[in-house]
Amino acid sequence: YLPAICGRVCPQEEQCEAMCVLSKKKMPINIGALERYAADHGVKKDGHPSSIVYRPSSDKVAVVGSGPAGLTCSAELAKMGYRVTLFESLHVPGGVLVYGIPEFRLPKNIVKEEVEYIKNLGVDVKPNILIGKTFTIEQLFKDGYKAVFLGTGAGLPNFLNIDGENAAGVYSANEFLTRVNLMKAYGFPKNATPVNVGNAVIVIGGGNVALDSARSAKRLGARVVLAYRRTEAQMPARAEEIENAKEEGIEFLFLTAPKKILADENGRVKGMEFIKMELGDTDQSGRPRPVAIKGSDFLIECQTVIVAIGQSPNPLLFKATKDLKTTEEGIIMVDGHSMTSIPGVFAGGDVTTGAATVISAMGAGKKAAREIDKYLLNLADRS
Ligand code: FAD
Repeated sequence: YLPAICGRVCPQEEQCEAMCVLSKKKMPINIGALERYAADHGVKKDGHPSSIVYRPSSDKVAVVGSGPAGLTCSAELAKMGYRVTLFESLHVPGGVLVYGIPEFRLPKNIVKEEVEYIKNLGVDVKPNILIGKTFTIEQLFKDGYKAVFLGTGAGLPNFLNIDGENAAGVYSANEFLTRVNLMKAYGFPKNATPVNVGNAVIVIGGGNVALDSARSAKRLGARVVLAYRRTEAQMPARAEEIENAKEEGIEFLFLTAPKKILADENGRVKGMEFIKMELGDTDQSGRPRPVAIKGSDFLIECQTVIVAIGQSPNPLLFKATKDLKTTEEGIIMVDGHSMTSIPGVFAGGDVTTGAATVISAMGAGKKAAREIDKYLLNLADRS
């Protein structure tokens, strides 16, 4: 499932290609590019593979969240014969694949095709429904759903908590990318949502999300500076993305930490103050800790700041769901069978791990579908 997507966005260099025996001597086989080609070519030639429903069932299962975890779980359950409804709070299904990862890395018609495929499997996709607000999980059970899968992701952005962060022109990466990708803000006023980045944009962070934000801002015509408090070698982003960003003219400031955002008399961003860092002792993450160099403060003028320093699960659903156990960070706790603290409620993907990868979310969705099947068969045996 989703090969055209995985072929494009998975960090293959750490996954399948890292296992390739050829990498011990020379370069690994370019498995990602082959996967992408096979998926694109296969769909063009033969369409999506038809699937066999092997055991039609009258049981209804609700899947919440249509990112890679929810899509995969829905597809697997539908193939097993369950009646699946996929609830999504946004107006377009796909999760981060549609609102986060930009078009130039993952064309949206590919995600659309995958959603069409699961609709053809019989999955009823219901956008614009926020579980926890529109309906509670309890209501889903009352409506006859026998099991629920939560694949609600980690969409709540973390912030820097520095002075000036409330100024106009400061975006979380999440909001910025949603405006650009999903709402097509570059087409304002034809499209209702505006984005006005000005001449210079500063992006804070060193992961894929920071690089997607920087590369998207560059395409809006701005000078883009990316500041990261550690070194290039410590950046969590894929090497391929860093290379592409450099080629596109993104300016990198390593060992540079944000201090303060400055605003003009109208409350709009006019610049940002930084301090240079050096590497110190090893910290909890096992990496050398960046330590501020006294007196090394400096200022960069800019009209937009994009904060891309990580995301956590949105607490809305947990707050509305008594008995759903989470960690202190708001990560949903599951047992070895993907089940949460509520019987019949399963979870997987970023909401159970924190921000991770497409392939790990898909794996979690697939595993949960098998566990839901076992659970429902067991339930049927007992009644
Ligand atoms: P998500 O994709 O976050 O989907 C969750 C869905 O649930 C969303 O559509 C949300 O609207 C919906 N939802 C949330 N709450 C509710 C509710 N209460 N009711 C109904 N619906 C709800 N990974 C890679 O492997 N490679 C990459 O190159 C890569 N790049 C990335 C770039 C960006 C900008 C971001 C943000 C992430 C990137 N990732 C990448 C990470 C990857 O996209 C995520 O790990 C993955 O999408 C997680 O899948 P998920 O299904 O758990 O959640």
